Amino acid sequence: MPILTDTFNRPLRDLRISLTDRCNFRCTYCMPRELFGAEHFFLPGNELLDFDEIERVSRIAAGLGVTKLRLTGGEPLLRRNIDVLISRLATVNGIDDICLTTNGSLLTAKRARELKAAGLNRVTLSLDAIDDRRFKAINDVGFPTSKVLEAIDNATGGGLSPVKVNCVIQRGVNDDQILPMAEAFRHTEVVLRFIEYMDVGATNGWRLDDVVSAREIMDTIRTRHAITRQPATQPGETANRWRYDDGAGEIGIIASVSMPFCGGCTRARLSAIGELYTCLFGLRGHDLRTSLRSGATDADLATLLGSIWNIRDDRYSERRSEETTHRHAGFNSRVEMSYIGG
Ligand code: SAM
Ligand code: SF4
Ligand code: SF4
Repeated sequence: MPILTDTFNRPLRDLRISLTDRCNFRCTYCMPRELFGAEHFFLPGNELLDFDEIERVSRIAAGLGVTKLRLTGGEPLLRRNIDVLISRLATVNGIDDICLTTNGSLLTAKRARELKAAGLNRVTLSLDAIDDRRFKAINDVGFPTSKVLEAIDNATGGGLSPVKVNCVIQRGVNDDQILPMAEAFRHTEVVLRFIEYMDVGATNGWRLDDVVSAREIMDTIRTRHAITRQPATQPGETANRWRYDDGAGEIGIIASVSMPFCGGCTRARLSAIGELYTCLFGLRGHDLRTSLRSGATDADLATLLGSIWNIRDDRYSERRSEETTHRHAGFNSRVEMSYIGG
């Protein structure tokens, strides 16, 4: 079968699957409490794709070139029996990597072992500050740093490695945590990745001034440690990789705002209700669930997926940096990160 490509000749390689729109954290930049409180309408269970449907979409996507699946959310570990889903996804022909992004709150040592046994290869944990008070304020549910550090150990101990840790830096919120975070993970196997704060969704009140650029983050690290840029290991890699010259390990930076990487973007995202988004900044997803629930054959679904990818021309982050103004009509109806997954 010829390789499926979009209008910029980008193949479809990664599928990020959101398993739920719910989360037990209220990170101020992702699910601010004022907007995701008691009144917020979360999706009822029957709206979510079930495991048969998720497996089916994954199988069809694998037939079109997808080799890597990432399970995300909301908080994916809130989805019941996730290990059963993983064990089914692990049998899909063509998939060679299954990862999970989590806030770590539910990643006990036992859970980590079960997920590994089911076929999960790796996890990425999110931690935005080492300072406990600061982290509690950011997650806004008072969840302590120590518990996430425990979850990181559980992941490593359970063989879900190399474990990555994502840290989103916001100016005036946690930019003073760059060095403490770096120190915490030097001389460990954990790969810390700083992420530029992105203008995803419409609820976090993003301003360009809040973004701490990759250059500023790296300059901060350099005030204390010599680091050297590493070549990319895979095409389409999102993180720039760096190594400490003294052998203390690797760090990464995901510079989606200051150094966009749309040219190598091979990712599609499946929302919890089965909409396919071809860009994180998509205004609208393509509904797959109706076809899944109305008797479409695998061939029909492959044609549908192929036709969505074939006309893909997304390059939002590159366009954003080309534009002088960063807000214009239409930006306010973008999909939320907690809905589509990171
Ligand atoms: N709940 C899980 C977690 O926090 O890891 C998975 C879903 S969360 C949406 C995935 C990742 O997106 C997290 O690392 C989070 O920090 C990141 N994220 C959310 N909003 C973001 C934003 N505006 N800019 C950059 N990263 C963001
Ligand atoms: Fe939940 Fe993750 Fe969003 Fe925080 S970043 S609110 S943990 S989905
Ligand atoms: Fe891919 Fe869209 Fe992000 Fe560009 S902005 S890297 S096309 S998800």
